[in-house]
Amino acid sequence: MTTIELVQGDITRESVDAIVNAANSSLLGGGGVDGAIHRRGGPAILEECRKLRAAHYGRGLPTGRAVATTAGDLDARWVIHTVGPVYSATEDRSALLASCYRESLRVADELGARTVAFPAISTGVYGWPMDDGARIAVETARAADTAVEEVRFVLFDERAYEVFAGRLR
Ligand code: ADP
Repeated sequence: MTTIELVQGDITRESVDAIVNAANSSLLGGGGVDGAIHRRGGPAILEECRKLRAAHYGRGLPTGRAVATTAGDLDARWVIHTVGPVYSATEDRSALLASCYRESLRVADELGARTVAFPAISTGVYGWPMDDGARIAVETARAADTAVEEVRFVLFDERAYEVFAGRLR
């Protein structure tokens, strides 16, 4: 049984086995939650991302996939980097967004992580409407076949928290 928890705040302050990063395909860092994770986690994360990129993802980590690195100075053992889809009003990319949550949990299982914190993937710069992003996040976490015991959605602001709370009810 996986329990789902909601927290409002900064995901880089969470104490969990794995923190999921809404990365971009370059794996070289960016703004938003990605920037915050690299800032607080320190250079060890970027160093491992660079190595992963050189060894496996020269063309970028594909959208919907996930890979793990050290969590550096964060209070976690791993950061799981996943690449969300950019929202499109004309093309249904929700399967890719669901894949981010599913693949991150699959990687968490491989690592043996039992507690995993997620941000609201794609709902920032990538433009996904919060309510639909929350629906996909909650549905996918509920349906996941995983040994992860706790999925913690960490929502940056009160509105996002309320939207996720509505979806959980
Ligand atoms: P994306 O490119 O996938 O949209 P963003 O980082 O722009 O990624 O935004 C994803 C979500 O993460 C947004 O809802 C944003 O408000 C939120 N966010 C930004 N910084 C943090 C943080 N430090 N902790 C948790 N969530 C954050």
